[in-house]
Amino acid sequence: MPSTTPTTGPTTPEHLAAGSPAWKAASHTKAHLGEGLRSAADLRDRYRVTTAGPALPDGSVQLPMNGAFNPGHEPTAPTPGSFALAPDVGGPLMFASPDTPGMPAPSTKTAWDFLPDDWSCEVLPASACTGATLRSWSPASGEAIFKDARGVIRRVTCPADFRPITQLESARLGIITPEMERVAQREPHLTSEQIRDEIAAGRMIIPANVHHLRHDLDPMCIGRASKTKVYANMGASPVSSSTDEEVEKLQWAEKWGGDTVMDLSTGGDLDACREAIIQNSTVPIGTVPIYSMIIGRRLEDLDRDIILHTVEHQARQGVDYMTIHAGVRPEHIPLVKQRLIGIVSRGGSLLAKWMLVHAKEGKPAENPMYDLWDDICRVLREHDVSFSIGDGLRPGGLADATDLAQLGELQTIGELTARAWRHGVQVMVEGPGHVPFDQIEFNAKLQRTLCHGAPFYVLGPLVTDVFPGYDHITSCIGATAIAYHGASMLCYVTPKEHLGLPKKGDVKEGCIAYKIAAHAADVALGIPGSRDWDDELTKARAALNWKKHFELAFDEDTARAYHDEDLDVDTDFCAMCGHDWCSVRISKEIQEFSSGKAEGFDRGKPVKSDALTDEQRAILEQRGYLKPEEIHKLAAKVKGKVEGTVDDEAGKAACHSDYVDADEAKQIQGEQLVQLNSLPAHGIASDDRVI
Ligand code: SF4
Repeated sequence: MPSTTPTTGPTTPEHLAAGSPAWKAASHTKAHLGEGLRSAADLRDRYRVTTAGPALPDGSVQLPMNGAFNPGHEPTAPTPGSFALAPDVGGPLMFASPDTPGMPAPSTKTAWDFLPDDWSCEVLPASACTGATLRSWSPASGEAIFKDARGVIRRVTCPADFRPITQLESARLGIITPEMERVAQREPHLTSEQIRDEIAAGRMIIPANVHHLRHDLDPMCIGRASKTKVYANMGASPVSSSTDEEVEKLQWAEKWGGDTVMDLSTGGDLDACREAIIQNSTVPIGTVPIYSMIIGRRLEDLDRDIILHTVEHQARQGVDYMTIHAGVRPEHIPLVKQRLIGIVSRGGSLLAKWMLVHAKEGKPAENPMYDLWDDICRVLREHDVSFSIGDGLRPGGLADATDLAQLGELQTIGELTARAWRHGVQVMVEGPGHVPFDQIEFNAKLQRTLCHGAPFYVLGPLVTDVFPGYDHITSCIGATAIAYHGASMLCYVTPKEHLGLPKKGDVKEGCIAYKIAAHAADVALGIPGSRDWDDELTKARAALNWKKHFELAFDEDTARAYHDEDLDVDTDFCAMCGHDWCSVRISKEIQEFSSGKAEGFDRGKPVKSDALTDEQRAILEQRGYLKPEEIHKLAAKVKGKVEGTVDDEAGKAACHSDYVDADEAKQIQGEQLVQLNSLPAHGIASDDRVI
């Protein structure tokens, strides 16, 4: 029986910065789950709590358990597993929400059904599984016989002179690439065999251009079997920003958890900006090549040579995935006429205009990207660039959601997905946009059907249109829902959406909003280990261990600054409820409860918190609720005096709740804390008062 004790800590914010030393360290290795804990059976033993839902004490209501794992690692956790479906990694569902009645079923096809014409795949009987029968692929033989993670044995043949370039081609030949190995480290609930199998089925991609791999790219994956990813977009516009600023935003997005970054530059030196972003990124970089195609020329002049030359140039630069809006067809354009806001995708609107400009006999011309699809596939395959097939007709408002234009385009995208797979190119599919909350599940599950499980990445979606300035919130709500129901990656929305080009601070807010959405969905889906981090923070919170609490917080600086703004002492309550009303403190004192008593979380003595850092001071300055001199005192108060060192009477930052009797505590509580003036209780002279 494998060990069930993790040998390292949980995933923490610093680990979320892809490419950081912490990412590459042990927390995302096998050790995270315990040595040897890598088989599906191990995972089941470890995480499954029960598939029979417990009932209420009077037996009247049974919890709707559907067989999912408990997303936390404690095998004896008192909570039930997730209400999601039982995991089906290697099957069409992977981690999935139960279907509301009426939802489209998953496709019965996968990328295995769309091999190149000169390939074949045969499933062999289990009796074929002997050491002598299984055969690794070699260029000379053009054949591989291998067993996948679910025990299915495949014989795959390809032309004798074939050399795999893309991750999809390697996976089809049973090869586990170094990139798949790396992804398995970063997705500790999956094995490298499972990663390979998901890629072979087309349900997962590793966007890793062969040229970008020569720089600092740290391979990651996008797919329903893995954790939900966040995509940040940026890029200079004709009226704002520069290459240096965009590189700074890139690094900012990586710091705040962006798993991939899209360069959507439409102004400045696009080529230099793209080059700089690729060379400085550890995350995959995407582009929308049509932006570069029309810079310096009229849209009408866009032709075959310009399209293919631009795609090839960016592929050689190292772009990992490209958005190509090939799904907009002539028959879809009339369907847009009734919309409130027409076509809101830049690529979609540009191509629709091109099609109308080149119309013949009153009929729009064919989309040139659709016409050139097979040629574009050949270019992308050469460099292992993944498609992100653009939804050029995505809705731009709730009223236009799930209309025939959007769904018609999605059907074409399903066809394009299959054609790309035939070329060996990895595919993900872009989705809406603005969708009422009740339509989100349908959108996700229809994509699953029409695109045969190809990863879905969505822009939000916003669930209401009337909160400009807060669209990171309106969209984050939709993003959580669609990640639960079927999306693999969430394109962030910043507070500047619809209003202007995001600045560095907007990038941070967008990334954090979407990290929340992605993580919430992963927990709800029951992805093994996804709740470990939450459980660690809960233990720190229960123990009133503020230091650990902030260390575990995704944004430590903001959490610490907000806490110290009111009460700059780490003690057994905070300024929200105060001492007498602190339920966490009271719970901790009830001996029968385990609350606050987890091993390793004891907070020790109350201490005056350390001085605010520059970042924390800036957060309070921007917040604007304290005067500058008050913030200055918080930032300068006890530099050099940190927890564990403040033990003498003179420097002691004692809190009344730990050091005085109940009556005195009550008096202090009434006199000072209610006014948020806790300093006398901590032995701080009144002339040092900050509040
Ligand atoms: S005072 Fe209130 S908010 Fe603060 S730790 Fe106690 S219960 Fe939580």
